[in-house]
Parts: sequence; structure tokens; C-alpha cells
Amino acid sequence: MQRTCIIGGGPAGIMLGYLLARAGLPVTVLEKHADFFRDFRGDTIHPSTLQLLDELGLYDKFLQVPHAEVTGLSAIVGGRKFVMSDFSHLPTRAKFIVLMPQWDFLNFLAGEAAQYPTFTLRMGWEATGVLEENGVVTGVRASTPDGPQEILADLTVGCDGRHAISRASAQLTLIEEGVPIDVLWFRIARQPTDPENALGYTNYGRLVILINRSDYFQVGYLIAKGDFPKIQQDGLPRFHESLERIVPFLAGRSGEIDAWEKVKLLTVQVNHLQRWFLPGLLCIGDAAHAMSPVGGIGVNIALQDAVAAANILTEPLRAGVAGPSHLEQVQRYRERTVRNTQRMQLVAHRLLNRILCDPRPMSPPWQLRLVTSVPGFQRLTARFIGLGLQPQHIGRL
Ligand SMILES: Cc1cc2nc3c(=O)[nH]c(=O)nc-3n(C[C@H](O)[C@H](O)[C@H](O)COP(=O)(O)OP(=O)(O)OC[C@H]3O[C@@H](n4cnc5c(N)ncnc54)[C@H](O)[C@@H]3O)c2cc1C
Repeated sequence: MQRTCIIGGGPAGIMLGYLLARAGLPVTVLEKHADFFRDFRGDTIHPSTLQLLDELGLYDKFLQVPHAEVTGLSAIVGGRKFVMSDFSHLPTRAKFIVLMPQWDFLNFLAGEAAQYPTFTLRMGWEATGVLEENGVVTGVRASTPDGPQEILADLTVGCDGRHAISRASAQLTLIEEGVPIDVLWFRIARQPTDPENALGYTNYGRLVILINRSDYFQVGYLIAKGDFPKIQQDGLPRFHESLERIVPFLAGRSGEIDAWEKVKLLTVQVNHLQRWFLPGLLCIGDAAHAMSPVGGIGVNIALQDAVAAANILTEPLRAGVAGPSHLEQVQRYRERTVRNTQRMQLVAHRLLNRILCDPRPMSPPWQLRLVTSVPGFQRLTARFIGLGLQPQHIGRL
């Protein structure tokens, strides 16, 4: 049986660790932070992921974790509401998206994984590079609370996100797509009378996304890339005014943002590795292909990569023969789906960029009115967002 070391305890890393341990394979996950409790990018658990949890027998238990459920997505454009997606027709058990802070999701999955004796999670262990011998990656060098350590592994999987040390250390070639947007990320108190479903508000050259986290909204405020210093220079009162103008029901609440420290700048990237693997090393999730927040699908794509990798690699790892051809198979199987999804995100960026360039009051474009009135449109977008282009299923043990 071959040993696996996973760098990064995000959605991809914890899911892959869980699935390998469930199959009885020895696996160690290294997470550089001491806990999962921080502002992650992405709180959405989509129907495709809920279906995977159902196949794993974890669905009912998972839904006991506090969460909100949204059955559709809407956009408020120039004050007028358009229903963009309707999940109620999906061929899945869950016909909704779960909104849950990502630390709760990761704690849940890590807790389930910990029941398997071959699963080890090292929190506060930061990979600093990969070990290499004769062109083969043989494990990970890590900085730990007890000093530097080397973890030997037959397979190392980089699940360490957009700034992955795994791919940098292995010198894998990264291809960047230009992205014209960034996101300001902050919280605003939520009141029980506020809308339940996830909403995007577009007006006055801005797009604001509200994610319902029960007693507060996680707010994503889209800006043109590089605009944050200018917004800060204009001052907080201008920022409050802009926010309340775009989302009128937040009137009186924007003052909660009383210091710029409460607003995080999240830089958006879209990129992909030319090659996801080397002998002994595979990258998946954002480490192999950083996703934009558009559509809120990056977490689910990362989870689908993990399931696909587990399905392809479990048998060869068990037989002790996992090698470059199996790693290549993972890339070949997933790459086209990921790249097509990124292409759609890039088209959306171009539309968003047009919105962000025009600070005037917006009236809904005729194209939006037309497309949202086409029968089946809301079901189609629900399939893309809720299931993705290549839904995965849990393989047999
Ligand atoms: C602003 C923004 C908002 C987004 N919103 C959404 C959304 O609402 N829904 C959605 O589905 N997607 C969203 N995305 C995309 C989504 O965040 C990513 O696609 C997804 O998190 C990728 O998962 P991952 O497991 O590959 O990587 P990550 O989630 O980035 O996890 C990587 C993990 O590796 C750890 N790590 C990093 N380096 C090391 C190291 N050297 N050693 C050990 N551990 C390490 C990190 O601490 C982290 O826990 C958003 C993206 C952005 C930029």
C-alpha cells in the first residue's frame, strides 16, 4: 500500500484525505493554519456535493450542522429582480444550495475522516517544499510547531490553493488568464426580515453579493482590479453611501464598517497548470486551476477533483503501483471540464467589467430581460451552478 501526503486542508485536501482513508489507505493531510476558523472564500455547498455526501451516508448528519438553504439565485439589476436559477428541478436529493461557513464544512468532514485509523491531520504544519530524489517527488518538507519535519510519501498531492507551494516548489508551469475584477469582503448584520435567498445587486457601476450567514451577511463587493486604493482615498462615508445606494435595505447598517481593516481585499485569479503532475506529485483544486468567485463554484470543482482523483488512484495506491500514468489520467479526465468552466467565468468577467466601468444608474439590459424570459433558462443555469459540467460519484471501495 502506498502512502499519500496531502498539502492543504481546504475542500480538496480534506475530501481527498477522507476518501483515501475510507478506502483504508494511509494518508496525512498538512494544514498550515492551526484551525479552520477564518474567512474562507466560499460558503456554498452545492447540490452535487450534497449528493456526494448522500452517497457517503453523511447527508442527514451534515444537514444537522447549522446552515441556510437557498432554492434559487436572483439578481437585482437597477432595482428590478430577475430570477437567475431555480434548483427545485435538479435530479439530486437536495434541491437547494447550502450556505454554511466553510470552517463548519471542513470541521465536519475532518471529524468524519478522523474515524478512520489511517487518516492523520496535522494542523499548524506548513509545507515549505517538496522532497525530490532523481526527478521523483518523495514527500514534503514542513515547518511544524516542533520544528522542521520531513514527511516521506509515495504520492504527494498539492491541494494548497491559489498560492500553492507544491507547484512552485516542483516548478510546474502556471498559465495566468487576465482577470479585471477583485472583491472586497466584509460582514454586515442580517435581520430576520431580510431576504433568504442569495442575491446579487447591480447598480451604479457596482455588483454586491450577499451571502446569508444567518445573523450576518458575508458581503462580496466587486470592484475593478486595482481600484481599492482609490476607494479608500474617497473615504468610508462614500463607501457607505455607495453600498446603501446599491442595496437599499442595508440603510443604516453600513456604518458597521467603521475602519478599512474590516474590509479585506481578495484578489481574483484564474489560471491553470500546463501539467498537473510530476512523478510522485499531483496538484488538484485551485493549486492546479484557480477559480474565480463567479457562480460560486470553485469549492465544488475542487471537491469534484478530489473525488475523481480518489476514484482513479485508490486501486493503484492499494496495489502499490500508482505512477505518472495514473496522475496523467486524473488531469486528462478533469482538465477539459475545468477549463470550460473557467472559460464561462472569463466571459462573465467581461460582462462584469462593462458594468464596473459605468457608474450611472443602471437599467436592466434587454439581453437580460430576454434571456431570463426564455423557458428553461433558470433550470439550465441551476444545472451549471448546482451540478457543474461533470458531476462525480463516490466509487466503490
Ligand atoms: C473572493 C473569492 C470568493 C469566492 N467565493 C466562492 C464561493 O462562494 N463558492 C465557491 O464554491 N467558490 C468560491 N471561490 C473559489 C473557491 O474559494 C476556490 O475555488 C476553492 O476554495 C478551492 O478549494 P481548494 O481546496 O483547492 O483550495 P483552498 O480552499 O484555497 O484551500 C487550500 C488550503 O491549503 C492550505 N495551505 C496553503 N498553503 C499551504 C502550505 N504551504 N502548507 C499547508 N497548508 C497550506 C490553506 O490554508 C487552505 O486551507 C471564491 C474565490 C474568491 C477569490
